[in-house]
Amino acid sequence: RPVDLARIARQLVDMQVPLARERGVDLRIEAPDAPMPVLGERDELSRVIENLIENAMKYGGSGGVVTVALQRLPGTEGRPDRIELRVTDAGPGIAPEHLPRLTERFYRVDVASSRQQGGTGLGLAIVKHTLNRHRGRLTIESALGVGTSMRVTLPEYRPEPVEDPADPLAERQGRGGAAGSVE
Ligand code: ATP
Ligand code: MG
Repeated sequence: RPVDLARIARQLVDMQVPLARERGVDLRIEAPDAPMPVLGERDELSRVIENLIENAMKYGGSGGVVTVALQRLPGTEGRPDRIELRVTDAGPGIAPEHLPRLTERFYRVDVASSRQQGGTGLGLAIVKHTLNRHRGRLTIESALGVGTSMRVTLPEYRPEPVEDPADPLAERQGRGGAAGSVE
């Protein structure tokens, strides 16, 4: 069913801001004042965003800024528009050789310090799995000493037009501009 990804993200960020502040992180959201509808399970998509925010706060270092940004991307070559959600931190970043393996179950970059941070190494595996089920994609961009950006894209949900020429009932009920017609 259609859900508003911007709304889900806003609710999550609002909820996490006090916790972030306690951890010395400035958590922000940047989203145009427009719905970002996608088809999916609210709880699952919420967990995706939560996992990415959690990672950005955990590995992005305290004293940093974590930004959740949403925008609509126009589709290319007849493909539908997509909704993009990006979680960006200014942490230590991830070395390029690790990037392809990050979404494997139990894979952690720095085992010793990751263990100290807590967690199991399942977060991104779950993110990837959930996105696959929603025809979404995860792109990870990272540079050592600069930071990390986790980019999620999902197809935008477009409601079917109400008017349905294959459905004679629709016409009789006057939908689609056929009001007043008789059989
Ligand atoms: P869990 O999510 O189960 O609590 P986790 O955070 O270790 O544990 P993932 O979320 O799958 O597991 O992340 C895998 C590894 O990727 C992390 O252990 C960390 O080394 C690295 N990583 C993830 N996000 C970032 C980030 N924003 N900056 C730097 N490293 C990251
Ligand atoms: Mg995690």
